[in-house]
Amino acid sequence: MFSLWEKQSFLETDVIVIGAGITGLSAAATLKEQSPELKVTVLERGILPTGASTKNAGFACFGSVSELLNDVETLGAEGMTSLVEKRWDGLQKTCQRLGRSMIDIQVKSGYELIFDEQSEAVDKVGSINELLRDFFQEDVFKLANEKISPFGFGKTHHLIENHLEGQLDTGKLISALWKYCAEIGVQIHTGCEVREIHEESSTVRIACKDAEFSAKKVAVCTNAFTNKLLGKELEVAPGRGIVMSIIPDNELKFQGTFHYEEGYYYFRDYYGKLLFGGGRNLALEEETTTDFGINQKIKEKLVADLDSIILPNQSYKIEMEWTGIMAFGKTKAPIVEKISDRIAIGVRLGGMGVAIGSLVGEEVAEMILKHGLI
Ligand SMILES: Cc1cc2nc3c(=O)[nH]c(=O)nc-3n(C[C@H](O)[C@H](O)[C@H](O)COP(=O)(O)OP(=O)(O)OC[C@H]3O[C@@H](n4cnc5c(N)ncnc54)[C@H](O)[C@@H]3O)c2cc1C
Repeated sequence: MFSLWEKQSFLETDVIVIGAGITGLSAAATLKEQSPELKVTVLERGILPTGASTKNAGFACFGSVSELLNDVETLGAEGMTSLVEKRWDGLQKTCQRLGRSMIDIQVKSGYELIFDEQSEAVDKVGSINELLRDFFQEDVFKLANEKISPFGFGKTHHLIENHLEGQLDTGKLISALWKYCAEIGVQIHTGCEVREIHEESSTVRIACKDAEFSAKKVAVCTNAFTNKLLGKELEVAPGRGIVMSIIPDNELKFQGTFHYEEGYYYFRDYYGKLLFGGGRNLALEEETTTDFGINQKIKEKLVADLDSIILPNQSYKIEMEWTGIMAFGKTKAPIVEKISDRIAIGVRLGGMGVAIGSLVGEEVAEMILKHGLI
């Protein structure tokens, strides 16, 4: 039972954002930045965000050559370049809003490892550079095979370097965004799993286990969990990803972010440690799940790759392992749309949501503001 005060100050609000990942918090921040008079409330089911935003590997990336070639196939050349621009702009937006040092962003180059001698990605470095030149005004990718031996990689025939790719501290990013939202007046409630959304003529009622909220507009930023919440069949499939934190016995021979097999595998240095994950493509059906759990088959493959590709003939200890849940569709473009007069969604951020998340949040917030609150 709630008091009049609680009802007025906490439960009745102007806009509710569901989900406190990077998209939801960015949406809330944009709403308050653009309309400071609005009461904006974020409802998050977990004690901490419980999806992908605090579970990822912290690559500040916008796509490797083989991923971008794949995007050209699914989205066309223009679709690919537009997605890269959004990822880049999203990263700049996050840096501007929070400050580069607050998220510990470091640009140490990103690299794609290629295991075949003949490779389409290597052949097409020039054509991808050409497609991106208008935007970046320079070549983004170049072959860096001379670094394979000093980095100590096994099985690797080619290395494609992207000197603009960086890495950041995912925990610092979400905690800084959280703090920023609180400072500008966003209320954030954790432990509030939204179970039902009832749209009425002038309001939307949001039912959680222990409370019912009402708002004039709702932004749904629940990524992989959207169909479960809305009871719809949107083209949003969950995809589980694993990350392991590894302590090598000796100093790492490389620094930066690294990908292989179209980004299905990813590793980076983190203050002397190695973060390594991926392998979802080994068991796509099993990994199409919202359950947080470790697939032993994938873990075994990661350990085999550690021993043969990343740290051959080196000893190490696996310190921690965890999983997070991403959301995928037929293309890598996110879904930002109104699903009714009062509800808009910003979901399906794929495997590069750190980059694009703040922009998707901004787009969903602007969609809500554009149509007014009445
Ligand atoms: C292992 C892994 C590695 C990754 N590595 C990278 C990387 O290096 N670089 C990169 O750019 N991207 C990476 N990603 C992808 C990136 O993390 C995501 O695309 C991005 O975080 C998605 O943000 P989001 O806010 O849209 O979704 P989420 O972070 O999943 O947020 C959705 C939130 O909604 C909440 N929620 C769901 N249902 C409800 C409900 N009913 N009521 C209330 N709250 C609810 C969830 O608890 C969650 O906190 C990785 C992802 C994973 C899993």
